[in-house]
Amino acid sequence: MKTARKTQSNPNAIVFSSAPFPPTRSDRRPASGVMNFLEGTRAVAPGELEANSITRYLVTRFYREQILNSGYYDQLKFIVEPSLKEFESPGILDTSGEHDNTVVPGFQHKYAQTGLLLATDHCASYCRYCFRKRIVGKTSDEIAADLGQIARYIGSHPEMTNVLVSGGDPFVLGTRRLHQILDHLLPFPHLNSIRFGTKVLAFAPKRFEDPALVGLFQRIHDARKAAVVVTHFDHIGEISVDAERNIRSLHARGVQFLNQSVLLAKVNDDPEILAATFAKCHQMGVRPYYLFQGRPVKGASHFQVSLRRGLEIANGINERLSGMQKTFKYIMSHSTGKIEVLGFGADDRIYMRYHQNKAPEEIGKIFSRPHLEGACWLDDLPEE
Ligand code: SF4
Repeated sequence: MKTARKTQSNPNAIVFSSAPFPPTRSDRRPASGVMNFLEGTRAVAPGELEANSITRYLVTRFYREQILNSGYYDQLKFIVEPSLKEFESPGILDTSGEHDNTVVPGFQHKYAQTGLLLATDHCASYCRYCFRKRIVGKTSDEIAADLGQIARYIGSHPEMTNVLVSGGDPFVLGTRRLHQILDHLLPFPHLNSIRFGTKVLAFAPKRFEDPALVGLFQRIHDARKAAVVVTHFDHIGEISVDAERNIRSLHARGVQFLNQSVLLAKVNDDPEILAATFAKCHQMGVRPYYLFQGRPVKGASHFQVSLRRGLEIANGINERLSGMQKTFKYIMSHSTGKIEVLGFGADDRIYMRYHQNKAPEEIGKIFSRPHLEGACWLDDLPEE
């Protein structure tokens, strides 16, 4: 049975403290009735959330307690608590062109070396800024259904060197299902790493205490491939004692860890916070990898920070970190490719570089656009 209580900082937000982990199918039903938003309660008609592409509400009890006790609740609440801004924030639902890069249902092939397998439409909690909000918390047909078909595609693409297992969050799946996925990936000698993208280490880190996961990662090692976990910590307040313990334990067993963060207004648009987050990651054996510019996602673009401010923050982070710690790139994951945002020139243009592109000859190419105050995305910048 669900129990509800009011939070300290937002008396309007009712917390369903018995949110199970992993979420059950019934948890995927869109909410209706009176719903609690950061700004207050609002009646929600049946189907209204779906019509506005608003992700359903789910937060684990663990994460709720973690952010309440972190001292950063007033920043971290924006990650999981719904806002009325979601009804009006402009944007699109597929900002990176994922539909166009889908080669087999549930499998994308955008860059030659990398395959992306969407293993589930579930997450442990739902981030209000998610760029896959078109998928998560729903029953999506963009999820991998036929692993055999995906394996046949991989087998016919020897240029592919790694597969990223994502979703949703693959670690809401049972370990047996993760083994089934490996059954279809490990036989390919041209794959040299298997990567998992997950925020479960923030939302429900005890999942990583499952002793069977040791065997899962060992299978990857035994197949002479790198086992890589990409964590998703946006803020130092999300890094719990349990997360650190479990990361250290798996790191000691040879699992490589990287971290990606999303630059989010009101959450982490502060170089002190992000530098502290990246320093903590480094200390735990997690390499800071990407700092993503927030995407113009419908219902989530209010999280975007301007490119000018983003560059100030990226520079501020670098000023605070040692050379070993500043291993992140400030990246705009655009439909044309992964664009590293480099900085302003003396001509006040923004200079960028393709870190990844479908066309290999474009990779590394530096280009610039005139700056427009308030621009948050490549498409906001005039071509000339
Ligand atoms: S955990 Fe990842 S996929 Fe799930 S809602 Fe958050 S950002 Fe989206």
